[in-house]
Amino acid sequence: MKQACGVIFDLDGVLTDTAELHYQSWLRLAEELGISFDRQRNEALRGISRGESLKIVLGERAVKYGADEQAAMAEKKNRHYQELVDRMTQADMLPGALDLLRGLRTAGVRVAVASSSRNAKRVVDHLNIRDLLDAVIDGTDTERSKPDPTLFLMAAAAIDVPPRRCIVVEDAESGVDAGLAAGMTVVGLGPRSRVGRAHRVCESLTELTAARLVQMIDRGRTPP
Ligand SMILES: [Mg+2]
Repeated sequence: MKQACGVIFDLDGVLTDTAELHYQSWLRLAEELGISFDRQRNEALRGISRGESLKIVLGERAVKYGADEQAAMAEKKNRHYQELVDRMTQADMLPGALDLLRGLRTAGVRVAVASSSRNAKRVVDHLNIRDLLDAVIDGTDTERSKPDPTLFLMAAAAIDVPPRRCIVVEDAESGVDAGLAAGMTVVGLGPRSRVGRAHRVCESLTELTAARLVQMIDRGRTPP
């Protein structure tokens, strides 16, 4: 019998562009605080936790605020973000994402989402893709965020596929490192400067098909 294989997707920046919603909600918080913030500074937040992101947004002003104040700001940013998430629909999937999920389903590949975000399940529900996924592991399931491999290892366990038979699809440097640390084959989405440590680098999910991913697992990984 053919061995099971699994594909584990990061969510933000891979299946949907929540990165833009995060940017809009950080921008709104920064404006409320009278702090300048732009897309260039936002780049530093990719794959970084909410608390750490806040410190980057506040910059040298971070020392002026105590832990409680910072927690309240992070919570406020999260409310801004959830307002935007609640307006999401399946039309907010990135190009190729829905076709790839459907193709993997048809091919009998087990599919999971593993995201450090504590909102991942909410996003998945709004995208209406629950029936195309076998497991969703997010920041509410573990405190450990990428580059720690825990999220990916939990996802592999949830879909009952050994890590060496799993492919991770990631857009963040910390996520690529987490996938490698989990002993999985990693496909990086985006520029080589960011995801170059992945076994294979793509610009977009439209370059991937279920058959090609299964082939990668069966034939062994392409060297980085
Ligand atoms: Mg991401």
